[in-house]
Amino acid sequence: MDLQKLESILSAEPKFRLKQAYEALFKNFIQSWQDVTVFSKPLRDRLEKEFPLSVNAKISKSIDGTMKGLVTLHDGRLIETVLMRHKDNRNTVCVSSQAGCPMGCAFCATGDMGFFRNLSAGEIVEQVLLFERILKPEEERVTNIVFMGMGEPLYNYAEVMKAVNILNKDVGIAARHISVSTCGIIKGILKLTDEPLQINLAISLHAPTNEMRDKIMPVNKSDPVELLLKTVGDYIKKTNRKVMIEYLLIGELNNSPETAKELADVLKRELGHLFVVNVIPYNPTGRFTPPSKESVNKFKDILEKNGVTVTQRYTFGQEVEGACGQLAIKGAKGVSKGRARDSR
Ligand code: SF4
Repeated sequence: MDLQKLESILSAEPKFRLKQAYEALFKNFIQSWQDVTVFSKPLRDRLEKEFPLSVNAKISKSIDGTMKGLVTLHDGRLIETVLMRHKDNRNTVCVSSQAGCPMGCAFCATGDMGFFRNLSAGEIVEQVLLFERILKPEEERVTNIVFMGMGEPLYNYAEVMKAVNILNKDVGIAARHISVSTCGIIKGILKLTDEPLQINLAISLHAPTNEMRDKIMPVNKSDPVELLLKTVGDYIKKTNRKVMIEYLLIGELNNSPETAKELADVLKRELGHLFVVNVIPYNPTGRFTPPSKESVNKFKDILEKNGVTVTQRYTFGQEVEGACGQLAIKGAKGVSKGRARDSR
């Protein structure tokens, strides 16, 4: 979806046509331009041909309601996007920002694929529209967006911010309900510090020391723990916004009681109090051992006893492999071998 193209198609029309088109796209979540009856038939036909709305996606559903969309992009690249249905009526879409990912985190299935290309803002927004259209008959809406799918969003900064603005201003999702999660790209965090929109920042830290983080996150070589946490501390001071520290608990790697204490100490020292640690027990993607339930509880306990606020991420959609670190296109190396069908 290229919104500039839409603007150019409608440039010969009266100005309000563009507003009507945006409303149809982003408020009414139309599936076809033929539904926009305020447009003339020739205009609808032209838009249908030159600005098609269908997203080429295959949807799979988990018993907890999680849906994973396997999307084939215009060049045949495949990406994944996930809708999580929460019990309190929130519907969160986890969007991809890149096809593949260049960061190579050792625990992540997407990292294994390698990197193909950045997604355009339109390709990011389309992932949300896909689920808005699915939710519409239930009179439900997408309420939250997390940039936690395939890719490192801060390595595709301009398009991600363009998408964030469309999702906020046109689709109407509150900035405070949009979260950008990064593996710790310092340059990107510095840019985000100056963004006027009050979006949330999440940092995938996963280890309190360079020695430990080096083992699982290649980014730590260029953006090490101490510089990263200093940058995040400055971000908090300047924006007064709470930051989410993501901490993947991997059995026998970063889940000891000593590590929990070290984590609490370093975070309090560098970040003050405006942060929360979200622990995520490792999903069985094969390479590492998941932590025991007891070690997860003990880890959380030590953080809390040391004055750190802790949450634990509920694991959505393991059967559809839509859980964190499981997003990867099996066997196809990110390229469609045949056109996937829109299964909606
Ligand atoms: S965890 Fe995120 S940044 Fe790391 S390889 Fe996976 S998708 Fe990329």
